[in-house]
Amino acid sequence: MLHKQLKFESGKISIFGRPSFMLPSDSFVGLQKKLEGKNLEQWIYQAGKEAGESWFKEMNRAYNLKGKDVIKWGSNIVTLAGWGEAIIEKREDDNKLILFELRNSVVSEIYGASKYPVDHLFRGLLCGAMSFIYKTDLEAVEFKCRSIGDSTCKILVKPLKEFDSSNNFVKRQILNLDN
Ligand SMILES: [Zn+2]
Repeated sequence: MLHKQLKFESGKISIFGRPSFMLPSDSFVGLQKKLEGKNLEQWIYQAGKEAGESWFKEMNRAYNLKGKDVIKWGSNIVTLAGWGEAIIEKREDDNKLILFELRNSVVSEIYGASKYPVDHLFRGLLCGAMSFIYKTDLEAVEFKCRSIGDSTCKILVKPLKEFDSSNNFVKRQILNLDN
């Protein structure tokens, strides 16, 4: 089913009905570095969050994927789209919590070493998608990233109040959103 939902027409590619385009990953990473130079990288997360939410809303409507089945499809789409291999490591529906591993993150590979995790768009997309599925505004923090020397990237999605506000990654990625 998944592969049937990847459509190529002249000048247009859609994945599950959503127009998508292929772009060299270094062009995206270059844009991200420019934004980081001005401390504006939060907007990548915010834009990803909005896109993730509207994409999953549309997918749910058009394909009638039942509730949380969409989560599995979402992981497959990410993997198909070339961001890396998305793996659901833990899921607690009652707590609206989900832990993802993004194995072999392409953004981190192109980005290289950083003082901070770099998969802002991916954590935004995840967060928006999960916020739609759990019908609650959630947040996402990448607490392991290949760019800071970890062997893989890990992203935790849950309600804002459940995060430890003294944690530096939490502060930087979701609390200091004032620019
Ligand atoms: Zn990462």
